[in-house]
This record gives sequence, structure tokens and C-alpha cells, in this order.
Amino acid sequence: MIDDYGLDLPLVHVGKVRRLYALPDAADPGERAPGRLLMVATDAISAFDYVLSSAIPDKGALLTRLSVWWFDQLAGLIPNHVVSRDVPDPVKGRALITERLEMIPVECVVRGYLTGSGWAEYQQDGTVTGIELPAGLRDGDRLPEPIFTPAIKAELGEHDENVPFSSIVAVHGRGTADELREASLAVYRHAEAIARGRGVILADTKFEFGRRPDGTLVLADEVLTPDSSRFWDAQQWAPGGAQPSFDKQFVRDWLQHDSGWDKTSGIEPPPLPASVIAATRDRYVEAYTRLTGRPFN
Ligand code: ATP
Ligand code: MG
Repeated sequence: MIDDYGLDLPLVHVGKVRRLYALPDAADPGERAPGRLLMVATDAISAFDYVLSSAIPDKGALLTRLSVWWFDQLAGLIPNHVVSRDVPDPVKGRALITERLEMIPVECVVRGYLTGSGWAEYQQDGTVTGIELPAGLRDGDRLPEPIFTPAIKAELGEHDENVPFSSIVAVHGRGTADELREASLAVYRHAEAIARGRGVILADTKFEFGRRPDGTLVLADEVLTPDSSRFWDAQQWAPGGAQPSFDKQFVRDWLQHDSGWDKTSGIEPPPLPASVIAATRDRYVEAYTRLTGRPFN
């Protein structure tokens, strides 16, 4: 499904949606440049932890361009890993050259609204990753203030695990844990205000950070895309249930309610009908155009 774009480069990582290659050093083509990666976003889409057999046309390019736009908006706030958009032809538009960082293996989730796994935990104990919240909140409610609710990346095929802040302190030390939390909350606040100004609610999002050899904390991975965030239409926001969102909702709804597929069956999901592919692409395009104020293509 995910083709290799004919790139003759060492593949260092294959995720569900992205592929990372080490870039040879132009001055010394026989060696790997330790400091650079080619990060390629494919058009693949995952749902319920499966990579689907159908792709969403332009998705990789849309997510790459949206990340770059956000990195620019955030440039005054925190350094990012982008080096260049000047990439080999077969992956033009869908790839970036980035610094190769020492990644900190924490999924730095920030929630400004209560939903998803946060809502599930709240219903059980009134907390999210151990943070106490006021009683009486509904699915989709805005939180009194944004909260940092870290998760640890699970093995392939498993769900990420939400953990209390104290676990991040125990593993990474107080200094790094505080740095991750402060940086994540600052980026979320800045981005949430921009999105709100464009009629989009940034309900929650996930960041990943890495360090340069000199220790500088750098914002990495993809940022503030529909694959890493929940974006809701501010005008349609109505707490008390699931919110319409600019992401895979069509896909999830179709798979769960119309496809005849049983997500607990262990069987691969079926291919998507053309109408579902088109509707999903429309949502990704709309997220991009609403947020950036620019047309796509
Ligand atoms: P999944 O399929 O669940 O998303 P994944 O997160 O490992 O798995 P991708 O998101 O496709 O897969 O891959 C991106 C990988 O690149 C992540 O492991 C991320 O931590 C890593 N990464 C992102 N930015 C950098 C960087 N600047 N330097 C080194 N590694 C990075
Ligand atoms: Mg990832």
C-alpha cells in the first residue's frame, strides 16, 4: 500500500502514515548525515489502529503543508525541526527535510476540551491522567483551563497509554517533565487562539519534542494536523455528545455503521467506497483552508 517512492535512501522508520529516511551527506555521499531526516507523509489513513487499504488523495501533502504553516506561526515561541521543503521529486509537497533529534518518547497531549480517552477516564474517576476536574462536565465541554495529559507510546498495534505527570517526572526527571508541560501548554494556547479566530476549535492535540546535541528542546514530528488533533467546527459545537470534526469521522462512521465490518473481528477493514474517500479528502482540505486561509492547490 505505502510505496517506497523509488527513493534510494536508508529507511530508518516506517510508521502507519509516515516514513523516515536518513539523508546522505552531500559532502560525503557514502556516509549517513547524522543530523538530517527526510520525513515523508503518505496518503495512507489509519482507523481503529488499522492502516486502511484505501488512500486519501493529497492527504500527505495537506498534512505536510499544514504542519509547515503551523511551525511558521509558532516560530517565535519555540524552535522546530524543519530544515527545508526542498525534497526529491517523487515526494515533492509531501515531505520535509528535518533535523534528526534525540526524541523524548512522550506523547505530549494537551486538552482544552473534554472528550475521547479523557472523557472516558473522567466518567470513571472525575480525573484525566490524575488531574482532578470539576464535577458535571459533559462530553465536549470546554475545560476551565487547558491541561497537559501525557501518554506513553505503546508497541505497534496497541493504544497509547495515558499516564500521570508524576510518571513522566519519574522517567525523565523533574526538569524535562516541567519543560515538556510548559512548552506543550504554551504551544496549545497560541494555536488554540489562532484556530478560534478562524472558527475552528482545537479540542486537543499531541506534540512530540526532541533535543539538539546542545540540549535545546525542539518541536518535532507533525504539528496541529487532523491526524494529531481534534478540530471541531466552532459554529456546530454542542457539548453533550460526539462533535463533528475535520478528520476521519466519515471513515470511522462508515466503517462502524455502514460497511458491515466488525471492528472486534480481527479481520482487516474493507476498502473505502469512492464517496467516502472523496468526503474524507474534503474534510482534510477544509481543515487546511480554514486554518491557513489559503486554497489548496
Ligand atoms: P504511528 O504509526 O503510530 O504514528 P509512529 O508515530 O512511530 O507510529 P510516524 O508518526 O509515522 O509513526 O513516524 C514518525 C516518527 O518520527 C515518530 O516515531 C517520531 O517520534 C519520529 N520523529 C519525528 N520527528 C523527528 C525528528 N526530528 N528526529 C527524529 N525522529 C523524529
Ligand atoms: Mg506518530
